[in-house]
Amino acid sequence: MEKKFAPIIVICCLLGVGVVLIGLGIGLYKTSTELNSSRRAPVKTTNVVLIVMDAFRADRVGQVRNGVPLTPFLDSLGGEAAVFRSSVSNCTWTRPSMTSLLTSLYVDAHQVIYGALVKEDPDAFNALAPEIPTMATVLKAYGYNTLAIQTNGNLFPELGFSKGFDVYRTSLDADATQVTDWALEEWNRARTPFFLYAHYMDPHLPYEPPQQHRDMVGYAPETLSNEERAVVENFRDYYRAHCEFMTGQTPNSPFAPLSDAGKEAVKLLYDASIRYTDDHVGRLVKTIREKAPDTLFIITADHGEHFWDHEFLGHGLTLYNCELRVPLFFLGAGVPPGEYDHVVELVDVLPSVAGLLGLPREHNWQGADAFRSEDKPVYAKTKSSNPRWNTDWEMVISEGKKLVLNHKDGTAHLFTFPQDGLESEDLGKEDPTTVGRLRELLRQHHLKNLQARRAKGKQAEMDTATLEQLRNLGYMN
Ligand SMILES: [Zn+2]
Repeated sequence: MEKKFAPIIVICCLLGVGVVLIGLGIGLYKTSTELNSSRRAPVKTTNVVLIVMDAFRADRVGQVRNGVPLTPFLDSLGGEAAVFRSSVSNCTWTRPSMTSLLTSLYVDAHQVIYGALVKEDPDAFNALAPEIPTMATVLKAYGYNTLAIQTNGNLFPELGFSKGFDVYRTSLDADATQVTDWALEEWNRARTPFFLYAHYMDPHLPYEPPQQHRDMVGYAPETLSNEERAVVENFRDYYRAHCEFMTGQTPNSPFAPLSDAGKEAVKLLYDASIRYTDDHVGRLVKTIREKAPDTLFIITADHGEHFWDHEFLGHGLTLYNCELRVPLFFLGAGVPPGEYDHVVELVDVLPSVAGLLGLPREHNWQGADAFRSEDKPVYAKTKSSNPRWNTDWEMVISEGKKLVLNHKDGTAHLFTFPQDGLESEDLGKEDPTTVGRLRELLRQHHLKNLQARRAKGKQAEMDTATLEQLRNLGYMN
C-alpha cells in the first residue's frame, strides 16, 4: 500500500479533530503560523538526510556473525564520520522516541506517551500535537524541500508526523530495497536544499530478512526440531505470549521455552535483517554523496531490542541498555569526524543538526548540540508500546552511573554506565548516596518538563490497514 498526502489537508484534518490545551507556564511552542512568518533564506545550502533504522541494537554495529560482518557500510565510515558511542533513546518504542528526535522534547514534554491505544479512549491514539515544531517544519521554514519515506504505522500522517513535509510517502510493507529505491526516486525530483527522512523497518519484528541474507549469516532451520522451527518462523506469536507472561497478564506461556539453538536461530534472523538494512542504507548514502557532496547525513535508530536480555523480548518494555542504546553517526558536510564517548540522547539530534547547518537554536528545544556539549544527564521513560502490558519505567544517566526506576514494582536499580553494558551488577543497595543524587535529578527533570509542556497529547483515529500493521508488530492485541 502506498499513499501520498497533501500536508495541508492532513493539518486541517488534525486541527478538525480538536485539541485540548492546558495552560501550563508560558507559551514555549511556536505555531506553524509563527514559523511561516519567520521564513527566510537558508543560512547554508547543506542538504540533510535522516536515516532511522527501527529497532537496531547499538551493539550490532561492527559485529561479525559466522565470519560475516553485519554492518560493513557503517564500519566503513570510521575516520570520516562522527560516531557517538554512548547514545541513548529517550523512550524505547517508536512513537515517543521519534517524537523526541524530531522535536528535541522529552517524553513528558511532548506527551506522546501511551501505547497504541489510549487508556481513556480505547479507539484513540496519542498523536503529535500540531503546534509543536519538528525537524521538518523548522527546515521547511528555512526553505528546504522536505521529503519522507515512512514505513512505520506509528508515524503515519494521521498521528501528526507528516506536517512540514512536502512529500510523505508511506507504506506498511516496504522493505529496505524499496525504501532506498523510493528515497532515491524522491531525491531525484527534489530541489536543493533538501531534507530527506528514510525510515527502515527491517530489523523490527517479525524478523523476515530476504533468503539471500538468511543464507549469508548462516540461518539453518534444518538443524532445529520441527516444533522449534515453526516457533522461530512464526516468532511473533511466541514473542506476544512471552510478553503477556513477563508483564503478568498470564500465569505462563503456552510455548515451551526455546532451546539455545532456537534462540540462536531467532538472533540470526534479526542479524540477517541488520545486514540487509546496512546494505541498503549504504546504497542510499553512497548514491546521494556522489552527486550531492554538500549533504549532512544522520544515521541512527529509534531504540534497540531485547533478545532474552533480562528475560525480555521485543522493546518498549524496559529501559535496559539492549533497547535503550542506539547507534548514532553524523557524516558529511561540516561534521568533525571522530569517536565521541560522552553520553548523548536523541533529543540532541535536532540541536546538533542546527549547529552544523549554522541555524539558530529554537528556544523550546530541550536537547543540546552534541558537538558542543560535554557529559550531561540524559533521561528516558517508557510506559510500554502496548497498554495491556502496562509497564512504567524511568531512567537517568549522569557521571558514569545509570539509575533505572521500575514504577510498577517500586524497585530502583543502579548500574555503571557504559562499562557494565549487560547491567549484571546492581549497585542500588550499596550506593544509596548516588541513588539519592540521581533521584533528585529526575525530580528536577519532571519540573522542567512540566514547564515545557503546553499542549496535551492529541488523540487520533487510524485506518484499518494501519491498525493491522500495529497489531502485527505487537502494539495491540
Ligand atoms: Zn521502533
